[in-house]
Amino acid sequence: MSTASIKKVLIANRGEIALRLVRACAEQNIRSVAVYTEPDRYGLFVKRASEAYSLGSDPLAGYLDPLRIVNLAVETGCDAIHPGYGFLSENPELARLCEEKNILFIGPSAEVIQRMGDKTQARLAMMQAGVPVTPGSEGNLADIEEAVTEAKRIGYPVMVKATSGGGGRGIRRCDDEPELRKQFPRVISEATKAFGSAEVFMEKCIVNPKHIEVQVLADSLGNVIHLYERDCSIQRRNQKLIEIAPSPQIDNELRDKLGQLAVTAAEAVGYVSAGTVEFLLSGEDVYFMEMNTRIQVEHTITEQITGVDIVREQLRIAEGKPLSYQQQDISYRGYAMQLRINAEDPKNDFLPSFGRITHYYAPGGPGVRVDTAIYTGYEIPPYFDSMCLKLVVWSLTWEETVARAQRAIDDMRLHGIRTTAHYYQQILQHEEFQNKEFDTSFVTKHPELSKYSDKKHPSDVALALSAAIAAYAGL
Ligand code: ADP
Ligand code: ADP
Ligand code: MG
Repeated sequence: MSTASIKKVLIANRGEIALRLVRACAEQNIRSVAVYTEPDRYGLFVKRASEAYSLGSDPLAGYLDPLRIVNLAVETGCDAIHPGYGFLSENPELARLCEEKNILFIGPSAEVIQRMGDKTQARLAMMQAGVPVTPGSEGNLADIEEAVTEAKRIGYPVMVKATSGGGGRGIRRCDDEPELRKQFPRVISEATKAFGSAEVFMEKCIVNPKHIEVQVLADSLGNVIHLYERDCSIQRRNQKLIEIAPSPQIDNELRDKLGQLAVTAAEAVGYVSAGTVEFLLSGEDVYFMEMNTRIQVEHTITEQITGVDIVREQLRIAEGKPLSYQQQDISYRGYAMQLRINAEDPKNDFLPSFGRITHYYAPGGPGVRVDTAIYTGYEIPPYFDSMCLKLVVWSLTWEETVARAQRAIDDMRLHGIRTTAHYYQQILQHEEFQNKEFDTSFVTKHPELSKYSDKKHPSDVALALSAAIAAYAGL
């Protein structure tokens, strides 16, 4: 395998992850090319990249057009494309076009993306590799009658899932046959709309599991290592809200077992680049759920506990170089926690809350990392994901990490929009969370947490007023 030296990277993404990638390039003396659609013209990632090019006025079309992006990479003299997460990151066509046009794709091969992006194929590959998978249908379900038969075999409750799903969408739990008959067509229509594929399959519903995932790194020379796990059990509607590394809920024996299983999984499919193997945990039972063949939103917390710059490793791997680390070089220290601050109103069923940020003051101090592309005066466009800031804290002990997260939220000022920050404050104060006893049912089990008092969090008028005063006083 020959090595190349990357000099210029096209970043096929937006927002905080695009900025994260611009920063990684800058630290290695690599030029970065941002691409943006018109609503993102004033995005920080556009300002900070070495060069930036418009992909047109439609908010989404440009970000989802692999041919246009690869052509732009060629025209602007880029040697590589980083897809970030979401958008084209798990689109095999982008990886394939890169290969064709001699551009390095910073990720695994088109074949691996395709195989692992299909959840039923991924399950098959894992079964062959001896990795335990969630019990479920062998492949896709042809129709509702097959679904009913399979559910009888597997046993209720079951999950009907979109085969090409992602981002927590296209997943429904069914507790009995009438519910299955009702939900089955809904998942199909959701899958068709969101992922352009009507394929669905079935898994046994693991009741109140923990979501534990393992970060892996694999180079093109066949070296595969893991960077330990993340606990993403704090979720709402199958979407992650708070992530923790390492998991405060598992012991070292299970930790090593999960790491090993993730390495086996990556090796089995000839994985190259950074990837994540997701598992469900129920007691001591471990089930493979899916593999994400891209950088993940919560890669930050693994970086904080291991000191490994995952994006830097991705760049090295794409260059054909060996990993900077062997497994025995990897250790972790303390706990890191990421809070996904979303532009949503927890008091109003998490309704998106887009608009202008009238005042933003970043939290700081020891052990605080903020990955965001917002700034005072920035207008959050309504076309994209509602996540607007990743607040990451690190400390040596669990108790200190929880306290630091609370302090960092208090430290932050984010006015003009509603966010999930103060809702997270309620979770952080909850006894079960503090006692490290939580699973994916935590958020549903505690609806009262989104009904917190607004004493500390005043009304819109008061917010606007305090923002104006703060701006005037330069706070
Ligand atoms: P992570 O697995 O990194 O925690 P998420 O599941 O939160 O990531 O997804 C990150 C982003 O990617 C979200 O904006 C989500 O909507 C999007 N996304 C993930 N998978 C897909 C997919 N298969 N199709 C479309 N969008 C996706
Ligand atoms: P996505 O591709 O959208 O991330 P996943 O397959 O990773 O979808 O599932 C997302 C979340 O849905 C999981 O973290 C878990 O909380 C829940 N989930 C998925 N499958 C099951 C299952 N078989 N049993 C229980 N919960 C599940
Ligand atoms: Mg997942």
